[in-house]
Amino acid sequence: MPIEFAQRIKQIPSYPVAAGYNLGADMAMLASNECAYAPLPEVVEAATSVVAGAHRYPDPSYDPLRTALSDRYGIPRERIALGNGSCDVLLAAGAALLEPGAEVVYAWPAFSVYPQLAATTGARAIQVPLDSEHRHDLDAMRAELTAATRLILICNPNNPTSTALPLEPIEEFLESVPPHVCVILDEAYVEFSLAIGDPYASLELLKRFGNLVLLRTFSKVYGLAGLRVGYALAGSTEFRGAVDQVRQPFHLNVAAQAAATEALKHQDAVEKRVTLTLAERASLVEGVKRLGLEVAESDANFIWVVLPDADDPAAAEQAIAKGLLERGVLIRAGTSLGRAGAMRVTVGTERENERFVAALGELL
Ligand code: PMP
Repeated sequence: MPIEFAQRIKQIPSYPVAAGYNLGADMAMLASNECAYAPLPEVVEAATSVVAGAHRYPDPSYDPLRTALSDRYGIPRERIALGNGSCDVLLAAGAALLEPGAEVVYAWPAFSVYPQLAATTGARAIQVPLDSEHRHDLDAMRAELTAATRLILICNPNNPTSTALPLEPIEEFLESVPPHVCVILDEAYVEFSLAIGDPYASLELLKRFGNLVLLRTFSKVYGLAGLRVGYALAGSTEFRGAVDQVRQPFHLNVAAQAAATEALKHQDAVEKRVTLTLAERASLVEGVKRLGLEVAESDANFIWVVLPDADDPAAAEQAIAKGLLERGVLIRAGTSLGRAGAMRVTVGTERENERFVAALGELL
């Protein structure tokens, strides 16, 4: 007799993980929007040096990292929530805010974890299609707000389509949201965005909107995806209290905390990576456009490529993904991310990007 699970298990979509990581060292890993560059030696040293004390639990206040983030962003410590990746904070926000009868509004396609928030809590998900430029349609999202709305997610820049909105329309949108409705602005890729312009700019919005939460991560530009560190900067103290209530007490391990704290001390290296990534992004976009394909305007460390019309877009896209894999390039096909007939490609190193463009050219 099989184990009997909760009914909701049948409703929860499985996160569409990228194909295996055991594909050999020569694979161009352009599937998961990671940083193409390894952590700095100082960051590796900080992480490894604390492992000798790992018989103790982490300090649950996570004071060094919390203080470093507070100093950097000028946000009081009690308005900063930390997590085992920003996904951890996101799922905790779902658990803390949603329940049957409540609604969560977000654009689609957007980050693949968003559907889990409604599915795990019994809330209703309202998915609002992106506009024709693959951007959030804030007017359409506003039209979906009801008395039941508890949470709005805005992915800016948006994963998987890479587009970003400037902050002015977002500020206008926030003005029209009732103050009891939480808005999470998911800024996992904010450092790469020219439309937003400056990773500090959205902090100004926190001064005006107590219901706003900025969600950020060390997984992208800081190159620490494997250590899992994310955080939220909230407009009020209640958010941190609520997300901490629904989680285990030790959600950030000692090595992760030490690495993230050290990484914050090397902002110049981060800026160099941003410059390098933006230059590589421009060449990658140019290479793909030269092949005659449409590319959404990217504000992230990945691009969204629209494939030529086909009778069966999902099959055509799968054939390209398979052909790329055979040529040593791993990317994500659009169907698994919410839209058939497209693909998401992470900006890699110059060599990886060239390899991708050459392989795609052969396949088209
Ligand atoms: N938000 C967005 C938009 C993402 O793309 C990702 C990672 N793919 C995350 C949040 C979560 O990142 P992490 O849990 O690694 O911090």
